[in-house]
Amino acid sequence: MTQTEKKVRVRFAPSPTGYLHIGGLRTALYNYLFAKKKVGTFVLRVEDTDQKRFVEGAVENLIQALEQMGLSWDEGVYIMDHGTCNIEHEKKNSKTYAGIVEVGEFGPYVQSERLELYKKYAEQLVKDGKAYYCFCDCERLEQMREKQQQAKLPPMYDRYCLDNLTSAEIAQKLAEKCPAVVRLKVPKDEIIEFEDLVRGKVTFASNTIDDQVLLKSDGFPTYHLANVVDDHLMEITEVIRGEEWLPSTPKHILLYRAFGWQEPQFAHIPLLLNADKSKLSKRQGDVAVEDYLQKGYLKEAVINFVAMLGWNPGEGSVQEIFSMAELIEKFDLKKVHKAGAVFDLKKLDWLNAQYIKKLSVDELHNSAKTFFEAKEFFETWNVKRAVWSVAEKEEYLKKVLAIEQDRLANLSQVGDENEFFFKDIAYEKSLLAWKEMTDQQVKESLQKSLQVLGDTSESQWTRELLEQNLLAAAGEKRGELLWPLRACLTGVQKSPSPFDCAWVLGKEETLKRLQRALQLF
Ligand code: GLU
Repeated sequence: MTQTEKKVRVRFAPSPTGYLHIGGLRTALYNYLFAKKKVGTFVLRVEDTDQKRFVEGAVENLIQALEQMGLSWDEGVYIMDHGTCNIEHEKKNSKTYAGIVEVGEFGPYVQSERLELYKKYAEQLVKDGKAYYCFCDCERLEQMREKQQQAKLPPMYDRYCLDNLTSAEIAQKLAEKCPAVVRLKVPKDEIIEFEDLVRGKVTFASNTIDDQVLLKSDGFPTYHLANVVDDHLMEITEVIRGEEWLPSTPKHILLYRAFGWQEPQFAHIPLLLNADKSKLSKRQGDVAVEDYLQKGYLKEAVINFVAMLGWNPGEGSVQEIFSMAELIEKFDLKKVHKAGAVFDLKKLDWLNAQYIKKLSVDELHNSAKTFFEAKEFFETWNVKRAVWSVAEKEEYLKKVLAIEQDRLANLSQVGDENEFFFKDIAYEKSLLAWKEMTDQQVKESLQKSLQVLGDTSESQWTRELLEQNLLAAAGEKRGELLWPLRACLTGVQKSPSPFDCAWVLGKEETLKRLQRALQLF
């Protein structure tokens, strides 16, 4: 780092709406990766100045979702006593949210706790002639808009208050506590140009920009004012955010100029799109990160997937699986795409399956346990196995998982294809016959299996030995031995191999199912 290079400081600044949007996760992740790569600081700030949108518990949910996804930050808001909060710094209790603490020299990090500051800066702009008070009521603004609409003009404030009120009149109205907003005096005939780190040169004409409200009549700032004041005071060096904020950026740049502040660099990351290229919306599927976790997607797979929504390491790279460490190493804003990123659920399923395959059975069991417990078949199975110890039950579930591991796209599918491991089975006798086998042949086949398996000791009851012994007994006639056995263990046309099924079911249950089948003859 050269003397003049500033230390990197980036932020994720969500407005708490109740859940973490998948697009929000991507913004947070890109900020996180960028900060980690540049050994910078990642700040989490709460933009809660839109009081109409207040949702109870939203801030906590948001922090929790970020934590669950394995992200961490160096400054800002935390949940008291949570893992991400084990920072060796002074913690201040949030004035707005019970259970939330704020850490860092640039606080408060909750915008509703910074109202005085925004007011001060808005007044400063008025004093400097860069902004002005506006007392127009809704009715007047509505009439103005209607007229503009009829004249086919873009809706813009007509500067009535700026052009017609004397300073004495303004002072009197303020003294009388008339409702007032502060508007930015957007300069005329200017071209606002900036170099976006993703999109390259971007230009806007100031004449298309309305005189933005900066401070509302209730004393709350608008997003624009609060965002710029905070990014400046918190010394943010790069603003990495979704492309939906691009139209706001010229307004922000005008504000930086009005204050005489150096603006940060901007990076607008591409929109997330549905498969039909429309903007990703709730209507077409899940958008909350929590929904994906609840459906049994692993956080590592979701992170990997989200990272690649609009980015890849380039240079003909075919790598698709990235650990967080690799993402940090390879992430580069220059490689972020301009075009919208299609949200392809099939890709997520594929990635998730890859991550599931890589887990040890213990890890898989830990993650899948709750998904088993939620299954309709689980309760009855669990009650029936009341004599089993917890460890024995766990062992059983792990065996099921070992069999299913390679076929799972997500954890909520556990057991679905193989309910016969958990339920009593019922089937037609005809299911047991392989091709043209007669009853007599099926009976003999089942008897043979019973004998081979009866002779297999508990200690030999492994996937490998069961396969070895049964194949040896089958000789040339595999189908004739294996089909009836597999059918009587599962009761279905399609299932894992008879060795695997026998292995999971255990010797006792396997022999029981064989004997029950034999009773049909
Ligand atoms: N509060 C805005 C949001 O909810 C932040 C936009 C920005 O990063 O500037 O996404």
